[in-house]
Amino acid sequence: QFIKSEELRRGTDPVHGLEGNNDFSGKRYVWLKDAEKAFVRGEVVEERDNGELSVRCEDGSERNVNSEHVDKVNPAKFDKADDMAELTHLNEASVVHNLHLRYQSDLIYTYSGLFLVTVNPYCPLPIYTNEYVRMYKGQNREDTRPHIFAMADQAFRNLVEEGEHQSILVTGESGAGKTENTKKVIQYLAAVATSEASASRSTGKQLSNLSQQILRANPILEAFGNAQTVRNNNSSRFGKFIRIEFTRSGQISGAYIDWVLLEKSRVVKPNNRERNYHIFYQLLQGADKELRQNLLLFDLQIEDFAYTKDGNDSIAGVSDTEEWNSLMEAFQVMNFSNDDRLCILRTIAAILHLGNITVTKESIRGDQAALAHEAYESLEKACRLLGVDMDTFEKGLLHPRVKAGREWVEKVQTPEQVRLALDALAKGIYERCFGDLVNRINNQLDRRSQTSDDTFFIGVLDIAGFEIFETNSFEQLCINYTNEKLQQFFNHHMFVLEQEEYAREQIEWQFIDFGKDLQPTIDLIELTNPIGIFSCLDEDCVMPKASDKSFTEKLHSLWDGNSPKYRPSRLKQGFVLTHYAAEVEYTTDDWLEKNKDPLNDNVTRLLSSSTDKHVANLFSDYIDADDEQGFSRSRVKKGLFRTVAQRHKDQLSSLMNQLHSTHPHFVRCILPNHKKRPKLFNAPLVLDQLRCNGVLEGIRIARTGFPNRLLFSEFRQRYEVLCRDMPKGYLEGQNAAQIILTKLGLDKTWYRVGRTKVFFRAGVLAELEEQRDAL
Ligand code: ATP
Ligand code: MG
Repeated sequence: QFIKSEELRRGTDPVHGLEGNNDFSGKRYVWLKDAEKAFVRGEVVEERDNGELSVRCEDGSERNVNSEHVDKVNPAKFDKADDMAELTHLNEASVVHNLHLRYQSDLIYTYSGLFLVTVNPYCPLPIYTNEYVRMYKGQNREDTRPHIFAMADQAFRNLVEEGEHQSILVTGESGAGKTENTKKVIQYLAAVATSEASASRSTGKQLSNLSQQILRANPILEAFGNAQTVRNNNSSRFGKFIRIEFTRSGQISGAYIDWVLLEKSRVVKPNNRERNYHIFYQLLQGADKELRQNLLLFDLQIEDFAYTKDGNDSIAGVSDTEEWNSLMEAFQVMNFSNDDRLCILRTIAAILHLGNITVTKESIRGDQAALAHEAYESLEKACRLLGVDMDTFEKGLLHPRVKAGREWVEKVQTPEQVRLALDALAKGIYERCFGDLVNRINNQLDRRSQTSDDTFFIGVLDIAGFEIFETNSFEQLCINYTNEKLQQFFNHHMFVLEQEEYAREQIEWQFIDFGKDLQPTIDLIELTNPIGIFSCLDEDCVMPKASDKSFTEKLHSLWDGNSPKYRPSRLKQGFVLTHYAAEVEYTTDDWLEKNKDPLNDNVTRLLSSSTDKHVANLFSDYIDADDEQGFSRSRVKKGLFRTVAQRHKDQLSSLMNQLHSTHPHFVRCILPNHKKRPKLFNAPLVLDQLRCNGVLEGIRIARTGFPNRLLFSEFRQRYEVLCRDMPKGYLEGQNAAQIILTKLGLDKTWYRVGRTKVFFRAGVLAELEEQRDAL
């Protein structure tokens, strides 16, 4: 089917019509840069002595260009190549062109060396059926078309055959298809592993139940961690690493979910034209009368809550009620009891009520905060749901006690401060609730006690790719730092594999470890000595007089002139970092606050002693401690308080440690356009992503070695025709290849002869193709 649809399209495909013009009998084709289309192809009509080319382009224009600014076009043999590493001219234009041709034929998956690249089709394709699962099961990469199933199968087989942990790293821009592909991986693994399990009848049923649960974890995670955004109607606002554990014989034996970087600011302030997390709307649309009463929602609607009333209230084509129903089903499959369900939803409802507590000025002392008359209803509901005393809560909120020197004083709060504290609390509760939910799921998916110790995992990472926005803040630094580390991991892995291949084939070549190139940028962010950006920020977070400004100036004094990857911003308060993908300017407004992420500890103490066990549990890291003067105040358990930067650094380092213990596989998702439309391929947009996601970097690295390789037999079959007087009779493969290469008179630096393959520098095969075409 996959193949047929391609054949069918050939005639009608607009891009495809250009194919076949590309014969090399004397004509020379080149790629020119183009502002609108990224690249345009043309035929060289004249080559002047000064190096200037006159090119007749396919759009009808005739352009003059310096020959150094054009890229070579690949011979027709390479059109729609399954693997872009096979292209003999490995340049940006050819890569974009190849993806474009394939995309228009619904071939959304393409390899680029170690990467599996996929372009979001924005329409359902019939390529994920059980039939497809069967088609890919146990097949080698070379024998099938590129597909996410092929990669999942490779990982699965490696696990079983080598007894080695595996990982599949999926990144890309928002809306590019990371989560969809992650789901396909899990679907595939569940399918192939279950069928293994049914072989052993006694445990078969239970394991397939486990697969069911693993599949159902997703709707729960998405309800609480996804939201509608301008870019994606179902955007994941957190990063996740799902580990699926297998016995050595390939049966699923458990699963574990890790998460990072939940965007909690959305809880209190969804962006324009976007929504808050799905769960709020699902709850308000889907809950029945009894539940509404339990949650003190009664007949309140989406537009009655400050946290949901702005932005969109619904998503085209999605029914929040139906989603709610499938969430309830997923809770059931996950063995959540009614009580579990209720206490989770109570905190969600409490957050909605917290948002409705309107803060005003006190009538007597004008700048001090007070609660508006109508606020008390929401306050009471929130406190009842959270299981805390309303008066104590109000006091802690409006007049928090803090220690000044050795004295305890009541702090004066402005209305803005109180509103901020309430929002911080709502965000804090939500994040903790999310973490608790994931823990509950993990408890259900943990079957270790029932299986042997001999387990291996396939970890699937679904995390936002490199981000460059108009304004980039602390959140972007965290995500870009993550991507820098992942890219370094890739570069190093590629280096190791290439070296191994060259050694196996016994050819002379020292490949360069380009992972090292990225170290200076990583150091700049994470080093503690000399002190990097994160540590510097942490230091200033505990300095009483530090500000975003003083922090920024301190950074400049530490790194300006001391690292080629760092420079101060010229116009804004901030700095510019050189990442592997691009230079990014970060603005440092609010960084101290974002890093400290403070909660009103009068209130957290109260929550830690809530009569609701669930709520008390969420805040159990705040312990109730008595001060020497008898004042009770909350104190974070020793060692538990960490800044956001520290936490992220630790989480990332644990992730990297896990990844280093695996055999990695890399998936790069690409957004074809900003209109969520099928068949629309915006080449400059795609090119930009290829730069940021490391695919072009991978190609650059490949180009420094011998990227094109052919088995002796393939090489001989295709190029023997170019030689006269080949010796008659049987020829051993390596010997035959040697003879052909000598007869062809290729420069010795252009190739290497290994034990089973011939290795070529980029572009050499094009020469040979040209000679073949000229026959
Ligand atoms: P975010 O970073 O915002 O979470 P994402 O990369 O996870 O984005 P997805 O949610 O996976 O993006 O994909 C966005 C939408 O694109 C999907 O809801 C779906 O409509 C469409 N889509 C993505 N991949 C595919 C696919 N392989 N087949 C069909 N539709 C797809
Ligand atoms: Mg996603």
